[in-house]
Amino acid sequence: MLLHLLVPGAAARWGFPERWQRAWGIMLATMVVDLDHLLATPIFDPRRCSIGFHPLHAWPCIAAYLLLAVFPKTRLIGMGLLIHMILDGIDCLWMGFSAVG
Ligand SMILES: [Zn+2]
Repeated sequence: MLLHLLVPGAAARWGFPERWQRAWGIMLATMVVDLDHLLATPIFDPRRCSIGFHPLHAWPCIAAYLLLAVFPKTRLIGMGLLIHMILDGIDCLWMGFSAVG
């Protein structure tokens, strides 16, 4: 969860040094996509992979986020969403490793 705050912060500082606070704010706002977890039962399951399960974490949505990141006007939103998906994806990988080990 902490990474969901720090990675966008680092990306904002690195990509937008002179207005990183604003960039960070916009990327943090993209965390609302996790609201789709509220549609699932149970709402929280630590052994479930979000990617491909929740409606806003499905592959067609991820493709749309890529598209958002291409255009300058929506780039920050797209980047924030993609960073979120990558972090959620890393969570899934860790889950896979712990299941094997
Ligand atoms: Zn998520």
